[in-house]
Amino acid sequence: MEHIRCLILGSGPAGYTAAIYASRANLSPVVYEGLQPGGQLTTTDMVENFPSHPEPISGPELMDLMRQQVEKFGVEIRQHICMKSDLSQRPYRFTFDDNSEVTADAVIIATGATARFLGLESEEKYRGMGVSACATCDGFFYRKKTVAVVGGGDTACGEALYLAGLASKVYLIVRKPFLRASQILQDRVKNNPKIEILFETNTLELYGEGGVEGGRLVYRKGQPDERIYELPFDGFFLAIGHKPNTEVFKPWIETDENGFIKTEGATPRTNIPGVFAAGDVADPLYRQAVVAAASGCKAAMEAEKYLL
Ligand code: NAP
Repeated sequence: MEHIRCLILGSGPAGYTAAIYASRANLSPVVYEGLQPGGQLTTTDMVENFPSHPEPISGPELMDLMRQQVEKFGVEIRQHICMKSDLSQRPYRFTFDDNSEVTADAVIIATGATARFLGLESEEKYRGMGVSACATCDGFFYRKKTVAVVGGGDTACGEALYLAGLASKVYLIVRKPFLRASQILQDRVKNNPKIEILFETNTLELYGEGGVEGGRLVYRKGQPDERIYELPFDGFFLAIGHKPNTEVFKPWIETDENGFIKTEGATPRTNIPGVFAAGDVADPLYRQAVVAAASGCKAAMEAEKYLL
């Protein structure tokens, strides 16, 4: 079986930064890109808060630049997804979606997080037929149409603004009476004439024949002035947060109640020696590309110390 000195799982800013540092430290890292090569930023429209880019840069372009930098240091990048791990003894053992197996001395888990859905039956039914969790990927199909975005955070506001550039009308469905996004995004959303915010509103179901034609919404659920109504729209975009991709490591790695990997204080050390966590998979708080990149750096430095 192939043995890898420093295995990196994931190819977002955390995985790629870990690869750059690990390679420069002669740890011969191998990166497995995972389910979403390039990570969540590949589904982000414009990034304007990653230092060193004074002009907005598209998420895919930013990730491509990071990948190029990783390749420049001769790191091997593989396209497979980790399906199983055995962290019960060293060297640690991993199985991938092509049934290949490797062992590794040090491991950096940078598998990121995946978009959450509301859990409605109709949401499943219309997945890919009007329901999406990625405006950048699917927004194009809604030119001059009406769409709804669910969520009140930075992602929802970013998606609503992106969609407002394509669609004729965007409803932002927010369950609370306020947005939790950063002020700059809130201001942009509120000042965009195409966006209408529906505060204190939840989605009960989606309806339509052969695709989404609208949603049954409830305003102020459980309150005396509760109102249930139907709102026609063609696309329904989820932006209600993410679930960390930790299933594969769960039997071994300690996670919090939401599945985020627990690390030792400010370090990327997990409960298993030689296994480190970086990026959104271990970050329920900040979830920023620059924070993920920094944690990838820390993980590689810890791996170096561990391997020495
Ligand atoms: P988030 O901040 O956790 O916001 C999730 C939103 O979805 C909240 O408004 C939440 O409502 C709502 N929500 C959650 N579950 C829901 C449900 N079942 N039904 C209806 N609404 C629901 O997630 P995020 O917007 O993806 O952001 C995650 C992190 O990434 C944040 O730290 C954010 O700052 C960062 N981010 C930054 C940028 C940037 O440009 N700097 C862009 C994207 C993301 P409640 O408020 O009621 O909980």
